[in-house]
Formats: sequence, structure tokens, C-alpha cells
Amino acid sequence: MIKPFEKKVWLSSPTMHGEELEYIKKAYETNWMSTVGENINEVERQIAEKVGCKYAVALSAGTAALHLCTKLAGEKLYGMPKTNEGTLQGHKVFCTDMTFDATVNPIAYENGEAVFIDTEYDTWNMDPKALEKAFEIYPDVRLVVVAHLYGTPAKMDEIKRICKAHNALIIEDAAESLGATYKGQQTGTFGDYNAISFNGNKIITGSSGGMFLTDSKADAEKVRKWSTQSRENAPWYQHEEIGYNYRMSNVIAGVVRGQIPHLEEHIAQKKAIYERYKEGLKDLPITMNPYSPDSEPNFWLSCLIIDPEAMCKQVRGDSETTFIKEHGKSCPTEILETLASYNAEGRPIWKPMHLQPIYRMNAFITKDGNGRANSNAYIAGEKATDVGADIFQRGLCLPSDNKMTEEEQDVVIKIIRKCFE
Ligand SMILES: *Cc1c(COP(=O)(O)O)cnc(C)c1O
Repeated sequence: MIKPFEKKVWLSSPTMHGEELEYIKKAYETNWMSTVGENINEVERQIAEKVGCKYAVALSAGTAALHLCTKLAGEKLYGMPKTNEGTLQGHKVFCTDMTFDATVNPIAYENGEAVFIDTEYDTWNMDPKALEKAFEIYPDVRLVVVAHLYGTPAKMDEIKRICKAHNALIIEDAAESLGATYKGQQTGTFGDYNAISFNGNKIITGSSGGMFLTDSKADAEKVRKWSTQSRENAPWYQHEEIGYNYRMSNVIAGVVRGQIPHLEEHIAQKKAIYERYKEGLKDLPITMNPYSPDSEPNFWLSCLIIDPEAMCKQVRGDSETTFIKEHGKSCPTEILETLASYNAEGRPIWKPMHLQPIYRMNAFITKDGNGRANSNAYIAGEKATDVGADIFQRGLCLPSDNKMTEEEQDVVIKIIRKCFE
């Protein structure tokens, strides 16, 4: 008999160390309770040094960073828009399909039109072959937004080569992958514009917050100006551009400052969790979320995907899900519901953007071309050409909290094993 956890086992919750409180207190005692102060200067300096870029601009959220990345790219490509238009007005932008919606929404903020690029099985990120196909269909596209899912780097060499050949700029969404490397280089440095996040459940956190990363002094200055309401250098509030209130607070920066020294430790804990799952589940008909040997993920979330033959029947609507139990088989719904009944938190894979009602009119490109034509192929039991839908159907995120003990994780493993009985 497995007993439910008395203390909830989380998917990924903030892991504090004490230094955070000291830096918050310092902000309070020196009265820098504002979007200016030593904590902000320090986190910008330390993150730039850690990641290996020249400038980091601290912002209120990763989403804010992605928005200003998008605006910078739009302005560079298409020039200054009219006041009531976005910088991407009427232009298509290629982007990762299987991701959190914050990757994609900034394209809409700037009035652009997202075209979703299918996922590949090797890393669960943007498929370079589908990207190549998308450029065949839409040769005029000049901007690509790439995310590194669950802390696993995308195939950046291939993606960069394709973008270069088509004269396209890259926005890199490294919100989930801080500290991960691809061929020895830190994520957050591959794009023309780069964003990271300090949201509460990320590898390190400020409770909220994010950063824009760049080697361009001009871009860093622009983001700094836009994020503080676009004030011109004048004795009064003079405005020549639209502004935003996107700057990070010095109190939040205090939390981030206390977390930065623990990044490597958090990654090591997450990696140990991933390895323990891999070992504990190795004889089940599942595979852990994969990564290529030339990259070192930060292992933010441990995920698994069930072999097609071991899937019991599972049906998902727009907000409800159901399954039929079968001996020797399971499905994400069964595993997630069983984990929840033991007071442990898992989560479905990010539902692909092309399956979201809000983006139902946007194009979706697989390696075979127009993905809208065959996006339900997996349901019919045919060979899946919609990789994102397939991973969403068969995959899930496991409890991956830094503070989960080995004993607790062993119980989680037992619960998962039970689902396949
Ligand atoms: C968390 C996340 C973001 C947004 O970061 P916030 O700081 O929450 O705004 C963007 N993209 C991805 C892939 C994320 O996981």
C-alpha cells in the first residue's frame, strides 16, 4: 500500500536559500524600493558574466523581455510603425509550436502573424526540417522565434544555418533553459535577441522577473529606455516613442541576486532527479525527454513519453479528458490523475500552439508541409506527421522539485509503475 504524501510533492517550486532575504532587506534599509538600485545593477552584471554576453537588462518578466525582443526585431526588419500599429504589422513570423504561450504572444502584441513550426523527436524542440519547409512555403519571412523546451537546447547549428541562408533574424526564448549549454555555449546567446525568465517555477527565480540579453550596446539601451516609459533626455517627461513599464524591481532583483550563486547546485539537483527517474523507470515502455549528446540541458523538468503500443485509450477535449484503463498500458491522464491522488503534481506537456483555439487560424508547418491537412493523423492511428500533437498525447511532466527527497521520488516512481500494471 502506498500512502499519499503528507507534504505535497510539487512539479517545480521556488527553492530559497536565505541570501535572498538579506538582499531584500538591504533594499528596504537603504530605501531603494524602486526600479533602481544595487540589486538590479548586480544581477545584470552577474548574469551577463555567467551567460557570456555583454549586456543584460533586468525586466519585470520573461514575457516583457520577449516582447521587447520582438519589437527590436520588427523595427530592424520593417522600420518604425505608425503609433497605432505594431512593428510586425501584417508580417509572418516562424516560431516554436510546442511551448508556453508566452513564447508566441509577443508576435501578436506587435500585430504579426505566428506560423507554427512542428517539433522533432530528438530534443522536443523546433524541427529544422520543418523550418526549412516553412521557408519554401513562405520565403519572405525574416524572423524566427526559438524556445528551448524544459531546459533542453534546440538544434541551434541547423536552425542558425537555415536562418542565415534566408536572411532571417532569431529571437531565442531561453526562459526555461538558463544554464544549459549547446556545444559548450550557454543558451541565451544564440539569438539576435535573447530572453530569460525568473518566474517562480524556473531553475532560479525572483518570484517573477526576466532579462533581455545582448552583445549590442544600442539594443540594450533601447530596451532600458522602452522598459522605463521611453523618456527622452529632457527636463520634463518628453516622449518620442511608445513606452512600457517593464523594469525589474530592486526588491525582486534582491531575490534573483540571492539565487544566482545557487544556479549550478539547482541544475545538479535537477539532473540527479532526471537520472533517478531514468533508472527507476527503465524497464517500463517509456522514454525520458531526450537531448542530443552535444548539449547539456539544465534538466528543469523531467518528462516522459509512453511508447505508442503501451498507450491505453485517452481522449482530450478542450478542457476535459478521459481514458479507458487497460492492463499493461497507461496514458498521461491516468498517470497525472494517479499522481494527484497521492498529493504529487505532474503536468501535461505544453499543448502545441497550433491546437490552441486562439491560434486556430494560424498556419502550422510540419516537415511534410501544411500540417493543418494532417494534424489528426495520430488519432486515426496513422504514422504521425504532427509530432507536437503526438508528444502532447503521449507525454507528461513529472514532479521535478529540487526539494523532493530520494525517498519521495522513489514513491513517485512506484506510483508510475503501478499505472502500467
Ligand atoms: C516561463 C516562460 C516564459 C515567460 O516567462 P515569464 O517570466 O513567466 O513571463 C516564456 N517562455 C517560456 C518557454 C517559458 O517557459
